[in-house]
Formats: sequence, C-alpha cells, structure tokens
Amino acid sequence: MAEARIYTIEHRMAGLFPVVNSYIAEGQDLMLIDTGLNDGSANTITKKLESLEHRLSDIDLCIITHAHRDHLGGLKALKERCPPFLVAAHDSEADEVEKATGVEVDLRLIDGQNIGGFTVVYLPGHTLGSIALLGAGTLIAGDALNGGDGALKGPNPMFTKDRDAAAASVRSLADLDFDRVLVGHGSGFETGGKEALLRLIERMGEP
Ligand SMILES: [Zn+2]
Repeated sequence: MAEARIYTIEHRMAGLFPVVNSYIAEGQDLMLIDTGLNDGSANTITKKLESLEHRLSDIDLCIITHAHRDHLGGLKALKERCPPFLVAAHDSEADEVEKATGVEVDLRLIDGQNIGGFTVVYLPGHTLGSIALLGAGTLIAGDALNGGDGALKGPNPMFTKDRDAAAASVRSLADLDFDRVLVGHGSGFETGGKEALLRLIERMGEP
C-alpha cells in the first residue's frame, strides 16, 4: 500500500491525563481507529480532523479494535453527527459493539482481511474479538499491546478476558513484519517496535 499517514489522538480524563488513544489513518481511505471514551472524545476527534484539514464527513471507515468502553465510547456521537461512514469490527466482536453503542456494524472482519490498505490481524485474548491492523510497516495494536516506561506490555490483565490467549496473541506478533507500533494505552514506538515486542516476549518467558 501507499504509505498511510497515521495520527494519534490522545483522549484525556477530565482534560488531564491521557487514558486511551485512537488513530486517524490517511491512506486510500480516511480511517478512524477506535473512538475514545465518550461524547467528549467525539469532539476531540472532530478537532483533530479539523487540524488536519478534514471534516468529520470525510471519514470513510471507523474500525473498532475491540468492544471496551474506552475504545468505542465516542462512536455513537460520531455516528449521530455524521452518519455515512462505515463501522467495522471483528466478526466475533461485532455483536458486543452493537450492544454497547446501538450503532450497527457494517463490516464484520476476519483475520487476514484487507481493509483500507491494512491487513486485519486477529488477536483474541484481551477480548474474544480483538484485532490489530498491519500496513506499511506499522502495527496498530489496539489493546493487544500497551506501552509504558519506554517498553511494550501485554494488555492489562485486570481487563483481559483470557490471559493465556492474550499472551499467545502477543507471541504471534513476532511473525509479522513491522517497525512502528501504535498502542491503545500509553506510548508506542515510532521505530524499533519489533525489537520492543521481542523484548516483551523474552520478559514473558516460557508459555
Ligand atoms: Zn481494552
């Protein structure tokens, strides 16, 4: 694919602490990946789009990496303000997204599927239908990976449905080719992301 430009949107609790990220990818489609915490996150996303000289109505597609509230909280407000864009989530997560937001999932994704210039990577564990997106050397990991203290981490165990499956999903990423890693919470790696992943897998030890 042509190099997509990807921009991070940090959503802050009470305007203070960054708690969750979503992403805008400018490629063959204009994509939004995750939607933050709440209606306020929809405003944050709209402002970020405007700063990039886009409007909300320019969004072609919104991909939800997984159906946790801090990743889909802005979806309903975005959809109400600007109905046309398509919503996508993994086939085994789509019902949860619909239940949580009342917004219909238009595209039910499967592993390996191509969407908006990215490949869907199915990473069950944090939730049953968690996905990442891989394209042009970039992995957008959702919560399959998080960042902090200059390292990558697995998903927060407290909010993880199946920890063994989540660990296996982290290990499976070693087979993929990428340099940049963008994560759901904390800071990712603009470069050296694959090495950071391998260090994480080493720290995790034997399965
Ligand atoms: Zn999550």
